[in-house]
Amino acid sequence: MIDGLPMAVPEPGLPTRVRIHEVGPRDGLQNEKTVVPVEVKAEFIRRLAAAGLDTVEATSFVHPEWVPQLADAEQLMPMLDGITARLPVLVPNARGLDRALALGVREIAVFGSATESFAKANLNRTVDESLAMFAPVVATAREAGLRVRGYLSMCFGDPWEGAVPVEQVVRVSRRLLDLGCDELSLGDTIGVATPGHVTALLTGLGAAGIPVERLAVHFHDTYGQALANTLAALRYGVTTVDASAGGLGGCPYAKSATGNLATEDLLWMLNGLGIDTGVDLGLLTATSVWMADRLGRPSPSRTVRALSHQEH
Ligand code: MG
Repeated sequence: MIDGLPMAVPEPGLPTRVRIHEVGPRDGLQNEKTVVPVEVKAEFIRRLAAAGLDTVEATSFVHPEWVPQLADAEQLMPMLDGITARLPVLVPNARGLDRALALGVREIAVFGSATESFAKANLNRTVDESLAMFAPVVATAREAGLRVRGYLSMCFGDPWEGAVPVEQVVRVSRRLLDLGCDELSLGDTIGVATPGHVTALLTGLGAAGIPVERLAVHFHDTYGQALANTLAALRYGVTTVDASAGGLGGCPYAKSATGNLATEDLLWMLNGLGIDTGVDLGLLTATSVWMADRLGRPSPSRTVRALSHQEH
């Protein structure tokens, strides 16, 4: 049995509850070399929900040739019937939305870029063109009663352009929200953010009239900064944090980017701060150990490693 929790010592001024937006089955698995059988994906998502995660991003409706790891979205979704957690899916365009709607999906995400270089590399479009492509997708989804999340990547740095000005990120954020996105997830796609930069961006967004309740943060641990950045975001009032069980995945379009923030590492910190998430760290860790076995390699999460060593 895996056990172990940090001593809870709250820090005044932080949120008392945080919602974790689990991205392992989508953002994680799409960037793993091993293609996981659909039955294993369904079991993974079931276990994540059973561990207490109330939002589990399940898969992506991109063209199967672009992301072969997630080419089985049509088979997967019906296997998730009965799971009560929210199960958003990534939808790149109108065709993807049609496929998702046909399966009864209740929540989608679109994937935008704060920089021209990444928009070109990832979407083969300019930022303006990609927003024009998302506009009818978001409108149709909202008319169908779906909840819509907007991802914004390269918010803190871009592998081709280097530093990304805060004002530029604020501008694209405003436009994504104006399309009708309920929530905006600010992505540090190559993991270069540091805490002062996080605070500066959140302050810039706040000054532009964007309520912190509509923001989520999506940090990568490439340079070991993900938890420090998360703490900066919590201090600003952010209460939705993206993370990937076991630290699965990275980013296929930015070779230097490895390591989504591991959900277990996040949970260790949140538990230590006395912040409620509803997630059972032991169950989650056991799930990531199980998944690591399926992938044939150990989890990169420090917390998964530390807790699973306690078994022996
Ligand atoms: Mg990611």
